[in-house]
Amino acid sequence: MIKSLVSRSLPTEAVHRVKTIEKAAEARLPTEFGEFRIAGYKSRTSNEEFIAVYKGIVSENTVAPIRIHSQCLTGDVFHSSKCDCGPQLRFAMETIAETGYGAVVYQHQEGRGIGIINKIKAYSLQDEGADTIEANTRLGLEVDLREYGQCVEIIRDLGFKKVQMMSNNPEKLKAAEDGGLELVNRIPIEFEPSENTQDYLSVKKFQMGHLLELVS
Ligand SMILES: [Zn+2]
Repeated sequence: MIKSLVSRSLPTEAVHRVKTIEKAAEARLPTEFGEFRIAGYKSRTSNEEFIAVYKGIVSENTVAPIRIHSQCLTGDVFHSSKCDCGPQLRFAMETIAETGYGAVVYQHQEGRGIGIINKIKAYSLQDEGADTIEANTRLGLEVDLREYGQCVEIIRDLGFKKVQMMSNNPEKLKAAEDGGLELVNRIPIEFEPSENTQDYLSVKKFQMGHLLELVS
């Protein structure tokens, strides 16, 4: 991927200075959780676009709740109960609204990067008994193609430096630190597993290393 070449070919210090994203548009966004701002970002190294929904003017010492949310059309829009993405997004926006500041960076990497059609194909295999990793593997797809470096750049571009990441994914926590944010703590973003999410969350915990306390 082109965007990953940038971070691989430069020393860490330099990565923090070189911007690979740019803000293309911004407006106010009133929501059911209150007033936010919405900004559209474009990658300078690929066709990727990102959305940041954020709130508040922050100072150097403000510790802000931040979520990097990977698009999940089925969960975010259609309220699928196969995964916990919808409730996670809702929790993130509620937390930011309560705190008065913070950001959600929404990245269009549907189905951990495989795209919506492949995700539906994977769901079909899951209907026949495959788990989320086996399904991707049987389709000849990577288990997780996501990268978070540019999301972290966007968070910094919005002025956030000290963060509480709302995430269970160690990769996202690492990306925040690697990208120059001060990770003050993590806000777990976990819900009681249901009959539908139990297997999915169990794979995330035991095969992908996600930090999930409620999954056995
Ligand atoms: Zn989902």
